[in-house]
Amino acid sequence: MRIAALAGRLVLVGPDGTATDAATASDGRFGPDPMSAFADWDAFRAWAADVSDPGVTLDRAELGPPVPRPPQVFAIGVNYREHADEAGYPPNSLPVTFTKFPSSLTGPEATVTLPEGNVDWEVELVVAIGRGGHGIRREEAWQHVAGLTIGQDLSERVAQLEGTRPQFSLAKSHPGFSPTGPWLVTPDEFADPADLAISCALDGETLQDSRTSRMIYDIPELIFRLSAVVTLLPGDLIFTGTPSGIGNARTPKRFIHAGEVLTSEIEGIGSLTTRFA
Ligand code: ZN
Repeated sequence: MRIAALAGRLVLVGPDGTATDAATASDGRFGPDPMSAFADWDAFRAWAADVSDPGVTLDRAELGPPVPRPPQVFAIGVNYREHADEAGYPPNSLPVTFTKFPSSLTGPEATVTLPEGNVDWEVELVVAIGRGGHGIRREEAWQHVAGLTIGQDLSERVAQLEGTRPQFSLAKSHPGFSPTGPWLVTPDEFADPADLAISCALDGETLQDSRTSRMIYDIPELIFRLSAVVTLLPGDLIFTGTPSGIGNARTPKRFIHAGEVLTSEIEGIGSLTTRFA
């Protein structure tokens, strides 16, 4: 199953790119708010499995972030070995965790206004939580996942790295700094949801190219370790970290300029297009 937020309304996305409005098809039981899917995720999934409405052709320009108001957003730093090496961080016993404030979320066809400083790309697999919990066991972690989507953890490196402590959360939360989408894909749709090709390109030049199986803390381990501390809530997002190839680690360093287009792809999900002004 794939779900999206189309013109602010919860839709089911068909394999042929059509969209079925959840509120209309369920006579108001679910939707139109995209967050209503998470009020009772298991009931929503059970209902969605039986919907046969053919839907209408989907206009990508009207897609917003598939989870527009997550209660909590977790973001994981240095979760791929090669990126940990390029960023100069030794392995850590706990995943490096910060937040991207939810006001930074935007959709899969966004134009982001560059703030002052050096703005960098970080393509990431994003997990949406369907069933919340505290102390979730690794073996049961996938049952708590609603779906996977693509995210960009856009980062302004000057503010992030100046001073004596990194300012991850602030420097990664400018308006539009968290593009996500184009839709949420449930784990059963993937041959192996733990091993997906992940890449991004700026104006057509590939800058990051890896596989999600190279994470240091995989999705069950992240859910286990985060929920050992924080209660996970339905609709929470986890940005799971970026592979190597960021602009700040290049020689010479490279950052995003106005007019450039960033394309982010994950196997089995699709692509995000982010333009910069
Ligand atoms: Zn990141």
